[in-house]
Amino acid sequence: MPTNTPLEKIADVLQTRQRFVVMSHVRPDGDALGCTIAMALCLKALGKDVTAWNEEGVLEKFRYLPGNEIVTTPADEAQEFDVAIVLDTSVQDRVGKCLPAVKHAGIWINIDHHITNPRFGDLVHIDSTAPATGQILYELFRAGGLPFTYEMADNLFVAISTDTGSFQYSGTTAKTYEIAAELIKAGVNVAELSRKMYENYPRRRLELLRALLNTLQFSSDDRCGSVSLSQATAAELGVLPEDNEGLIDHIRAIQGVQVAAFFEELGDGKVRVSLRSKDERVDVSKVCGLFGGGGHMLAAGARIKGSLAEVQERVVAAIDAAINAPAVAKELVPA
Ligand code: 5GP
Ligand code: MN
Repeated sequence: MPTNTPLEKIADVLQTRQRFVVMSHVRPDGDALGCTIAMALCLKALGKDVTAWNEEGVLEKFRYLPGNEIVTTPADEAQEFDVAIVLDTSVQDRVGKCLPAVKHAGIWINIDHHITNPRFGDLVHIDSTAPATGQILYELFRAGGLPFTYEMADNLFVAISTDTGSFQYSGTTAKTYEIAAELIKAGVNVAELSRKMYENYPRRRLELLRALLNTLQFSSDDRCGSVSLSQATAAELGVLPEDNEGLIDHIRAIQGVQVAAFFEELGDGKVRVSLRSKDERVDVSKVCGLFGGGGHMLAAGARIKGSLAEVQERVVAAIDAAINAPAVAKELVPA
């Protein structure tokens, strides 16, 4: 097991260098953007020159994050930095257009919690026991004695809350709750922030859920539930790519379902696959790995060439093989 760069050493680089770029993955979630903003705000408080990029900028649904104005889309002309920081990104090229926008960076820092991270970069800190990259950042800010503001606390709370399914998923430990408590002490208003995160969805997201439930299919003796979204349906409902985030959780929540699958036709000849497992014996990062993707044991994804129906058939067959692997098959599940 390769050793991580100590957080104190990373903090030292943050203190001593001047020009920083902070970035995360395409189709950012709360962990990706919350971490990007918290890191950028910390560096700003240290008096650094800070650029924060995301390929998509800040989606409308994340505009409640304090300080989100600091994040822009990557520059057209490549720029030079002393340090490039990549957060919550399982493989380097998942930063998308941010990568070619960095002409040169003296040091690349990679902080993440994906077990499949290939440890790209010069200073690498991967902690797959952390349920969110936001948890690692909290430890970094504290270990390094770095500035910590109310706005940073809000962003880290969103990072941790969204990546743990509101402190529910495995990986959520006493430490996670302790850090959440510290964030609340630093000024997070849990009720207000939770309303912004979970009770402010556009109506079209619910229309999308209705359409997805119409496609619901079961396989592997009802232990796998899958839904799909064609480009035609997406256009008909006027949904945005970010509208579907989290809808797969409704499928995972079905009694007896061990693996939930979501298939989204992307229009570039590829299909985006999202998998969720609620059984640790069925490692969906391995299933996605078969198709060039990755992620976590219980939440993983991939982009696969082929038609919606074709990709769905291949992935559902791979899920079936994983579910029926001897260790899993022994136990009878659905009631
Ligand atoms: P989601 O299903 O929410 O898109 O992604 C679930 C997890 O799988 C995330 O942690 C994400 O980083 C990872 N993931 C999603 N898509 C891909 C992909 O195309 N490649 C890799 N390596 N990981 C992915
Ligand atoms: Mn994450």
